[in-house]
Amino acid sequence: MSDLRKRVCIIGAGPSGLACLRYLTESPECFTVQAYEQGAESAGCWVYTDETGRDKNGFRIHSTIYDSLKVNLPKEIMAYLDFPFDEKLPSFFSHKEVLRYLNRYADNFQLKQHIQFKTRVVKVKAKHVGDGLWGTKWIVEVQPSNDLSATTEKREFDAVIVCNGHFVEPNIPEYEGFNEFKGLKIHGRDYRHAEKFKDKTILTVGSSFSGWEITLDVAPVAKYIYLSHWKEHKATKFPQNVELVTGVNKFTANGVILTDGRELTVDAVILNTGYKHSFPFLGPDCGIEMTKDNTVRPLYKHTIAIRNPSLLFMCIFDWVLPFICMSLQARFIKAILEETLKLPPEEEMIQAEEAELQRVLDRGWPKRYLHRLDEFQFEYFDDLTNQMQLKRLPPWVFKLAFYHLNYLFKDLEAAKMVNYEVIEPDGFKTTFD
Ligand SMILES: Cc1cc2nc3c(=O)[nH]c(=O)nc-3n(C[C@H](O)[C@H](O)[C@H](O)COP(=O)(O)OP(=O)(O)OC[C@H]3O[C@@H](n4cnc5c(N)ncnc54)[C@H](O)[C@@H]3O)c2cc1C
Repeated sequence: MSDLRKRVCIIGAGPSGLACLRYLTESPECFTVQAYEQGAESAGCWVYTDETGRDKNGFRIHSTIYDSLKVNLPKEIMAYLDFPFDEKLPSFFSHKEVLRYLNRYADNFQLKQHIQFKTRVVKVKAKHVGDGLWGTKWIVEVQPSNDLSATTEKREFDAVIVCNGHFVEPNIPEYEGFNEFKGLKIHGRDYRHAEKFKDKTILTVGSSFSGWEITLDVAPVAKYIYLSHWKEHKATKFPQNVELVTGVNKFTANGVILTDGRELTVDAVILNTGYKHSFPFLGPDCGIEMTKDNTVRPLYKHTIAIRNPSLLFMCIFDWVLPFICMSLQARFIKAILEETLKLPPEEEMIQAEEAELQRVLDRGWPKRYLHRLDEFQFEYFDDLTNQMQLKRLPPWVFKLAFYHLNYLFKDLEAAKMVNYEVIEPDGFKTTFD
């Protein structure tokens, strides 16, 4: 008898890939699941390495976290919905604890047996066989990550879930004179240790959380830091050797000229100017357009490729509680692939995406923030739980998230010293270290 189970491929075994594995492997009668992970471990960007730039084969080093990084969400709202962090941990801790947590998650649900490690997905090709959810088969080509000369292996799947992470490809604005600047210049993705910047005068560009965190990390050893931003700063609290300045107009050999005409001499530049979505293995036949605004379209609920619904994307969001989002999104994907949830007609999905974009524009945000959820994440979570007839997230999650976010804006370092105690169903208590 032929095997009627759907063959699902997961690209990447970071937190998103693990969440998909955890739910899909729960239904072995419906799915056979194969995850491919280019690295040797399953924890995505939480696998720290001192290496930066590209590996010997020219691929970007995946992880972009730095050595002393402490999580920026309290464990109470950082964990997957059904798998808490160790109760002995404080609310904030080193990135090493996240790696431990993810390994515990993978072991607990016996996920590693479904992952082929050190294997990179190099191409995904669409083969159209009909209409609707299963109208496309996917030919996935993989290769050993460390051997570009090895022949690729091809396998056919009924669905592909893209979980390759979106803090990989740096966004580097085209600044006039940037190549002429003689000092040390890096993107924040390659920042690992503050010591490299000891006694230097530094320009950090970009005033979002990653810009603030790196500025705060390097400040104790730096001589002086100019934190530059193109808009009005909404910045958190900084030590005295950090000065907020306007945007960059152009670089010179020894520094920078700002948009207000001020000229600064600096030894080093750290660009915290964000990341670009990148899916190098997807060709145009997959039906996804990467626009110059860094949006991924057309997608229904930021997840389902409208033109080929068996191609799915996990957590391409900004400003979201990632692990909570992944817990819900992975179940949503499973419900779609199990067909317990029916997709609306294509026209309706297109309109839903247009409405999302309009919401972003109505907010005064540029188009490129299409996947930035911010406070709308709670509507998004409600929508998913509603559709799946799951319990709504308890009110304390929203309350704690807003409280913490406000705290980060006021004083990022102090915000990471709080300990939270959840009081079900709608409260929490704070204590300080
Ligand atoms: C500096 C920094 C700090 C952060 N701090 C926090 C925090 O405090 N709390 C929080 O919740 N989140 C934080 N995040 C967000 C973080 O991205 C998410 O927590 C989470 O790691 C995203 O998981 P992911 O699986 O989607 O992507 P990733 O973690 O990036 O994993 C993607 C995986 O896909 C693999 N892969 C990529 N391409 C291929 C391919 N072609 N073939 C095979 N495998 C492939 C990669 O090797 C990797 O293992 C932070 C991110 C950064 C960059």
